[in-house]
Amino acid sequence: AVRAQSAAAAGYQPESEFYKVEAILRPWRVPYVSSGLLQMGIRGVTVSDVRGFGAQGGSTERHEGSEFAEDTFIDKVKMEIVVSKDQVEAVVDKIIEKARTGEIGDGKIFLIPVSDVIRIRTGERGERAERMAGGLADKLSSAMPIS
Ligand code: ATP
Ligand code: GLN
Repeated sequence: AVRAQSAAAAGYQPESEFYKVEAILRPWRVPYVSSGLLQMGIRGVTVSDVRGFGAQGGSTERHEGSEFAEDTFIDKVKMEIVVSKDQVEAVVDKIIEKARTGEIGDGKIFLIPVSDVIRIRTGERGERAERMAGGLADKLSSAMPIS
């Protein structure tokens, strides 16, 4: 199976407590990806319908005096998942596992540092706002042997 190559030894740059994992996916793969993420304890996900242009989409042809033709864009889904730094690689690998067909057009993943997370309902910030009840962090800590 394909996994992400290991991140640069220095870690993510710029250094941040949280990252947004932004994945551009084939629409029909989204249910596989979201159920895989849910299974591993990811609870917060935002998706949008987008259209894009990449190796798969569109000809390299330029249209005289105009922008790329409208029909060269291909329907994609953008999935955004904000997680703590230590959860990024697991999320990336899960997305690859569930989204990959091996054909051109499988999509891309961007990692974006996030300065802060604020829960509107409570005003909580940082880790308190990012953690979700029953989420991955809870799962991992409840799996820890009692010492
Ligand atoms: P709370 O009860 O904690 O105040 P809420 O109902 O206001 O929660 P959530 O349901 O946690 O908010 O999230 C609202 C929306 O925010 C979700 O539907 C999702 O689109 C987005 N979201 C929440 N957490 C994340 C996250 N970690 N990454 C990406 N999107 C998220
Ligand atoms: N990192 C959070 C937690 O473990 C979950 C974040 C998310 O679901 N996007 O609770």
